[in-house]
Amino acid sequence: MISKRQLFLQHVAQTSENPLMLEIEKAEGVFLYDNTRKKYFDLISGIAVSNLGHCHPKIIKAITEQINKYTYTMVFGEYIQSPQLKLTELLINILPSNLNSIYFVNSGSEATEGALKLAKRYTNRNQIIAFKNAYHGSTNGALSIMGDERMKRPFRPLIPGIKIIDFNNIKQLDLITDKTAAVIIEPIQGEGGVIISKVEFISKIREKCNKTNTLLIFDEAQTGLGRTGKLFAFEHYNIKPDILLLAKALGGGMPLGAFISSKKILNSLTSNPSLGHITTFGGHPVSCAAAYESLNTLLNEKLIDSIYEKEKLFRTHLKHPKIKEIRSKGLFIAMELYSADDVNKTIKLALSNGIIIDWFLFNPSSIRIAPPLIITKQQIIEACNILVGCLDKI
Ligand code: PMP
Repeated sequence: MISKRQLFLQHVAQTSENPLMLEIEKAEGVFLYDNTRKKYFDLISGIAVSNLGHCHPKIIKAITEQINKYTYTMVFGEYIQSPQLKLTELLINILPSNLNSIYFVNSGSEATEGALKLAKRYTNRNQIIAFKNAYHGSTNGALSIMGDERMKRPFRPLIPGIKIIDFNNIKQLDLITDKTAAVIIEPIQGEGGVIISKVEFISKIREKCNKTNTLLIFDEAQTGLGRTGKLFAFEHYNIKPDILLLAKALGGGMPLGAFISSKKILNSLTSNPSLGHITTFGGHPVSCAAAYESLNTLLNEKLIDSIYEKEKLFRTHLKHPKIKEIRSKGLFIAMELYSADDVNKTIKLALSNGIIIDWFLFNPSSIRIAPPLIITKQQIIEACNILVGCLDKI
């Protein structure tokens, strides 16, 4: 009989040449358990997904209740579905008044696609500005605005009209003109390795966009919903984007994304032609039920209040001569070492010591740390001590 490993290696599409091949059987809180019952600290939350940890009882309950009513009825936008409405109301109440209309989709990539289409449609322009080392997803449109030529080149031609400019470089913002449909930015670059944009840089972008009637898209797939110590990262900058992208943690562990804008802007996908964006499973009722419960719990339990304290604990306990720099905003953390080789060794050693950390796509000398927001202070200290022990050994 073919083993699970063989089946996986031979018949499941391989995304890299050396998959980690962890087989998780159970997950609870900040821990994952593999098929040998080995326990792992999840310090990456499935990459910024499991903000409330794994198998949160309230989310499980919400999912179960929704499944018992109905799982699926009709593509998004045509039927009134109460799980979507409950989530919509909650989101609209916590968002600024210009972000009052939500298009639910399946993923971060689809939110990017929807936002790009929306910006082109609304402005009647086709130039998009994005940034070096930006990651907005892996579909054709999202790939077109990726800030990494190595990943893009094999798939060209991609969509035209894209300009990739330097992150945090104010001078280059002169490239935003009245031909630009949108500027799309991660306020804190995720795959770039937690690169935090400067306040003046974002203010200047907002100013330029206002002057040229360009739409400003904030991709908060990783930074959204509490991870950086505020509900949304745009709050650190005292500005409002015209379009906000959410994904990852939004679904409370279920697949869900959203592009959010004003009713006026989003209406441009409604007619002429109608059905400007179509999605079969976007805004799935079970995902929306999980998302509502996840966000409601985040707010009710005031989980965001303790994020800075937890960030400080990581910074205090991650001290080692092999660490070059820690960059962080809340529980969005990059630990930079002195080489990619050190990073590879540390990630592997940490795994064998029961800690899951991860690479960044565009920053080979840094390690990703983005634990569930529910991680306790004691757990942070414990995890950091194990990590420091690993750094001693590499
Ligand atoms: N935007 C950002 C900022 C992301 O980090 C990601 C995923 N890493 C995406 C978009 C794409 O999300 P998805 O994988 O759900 O398509």
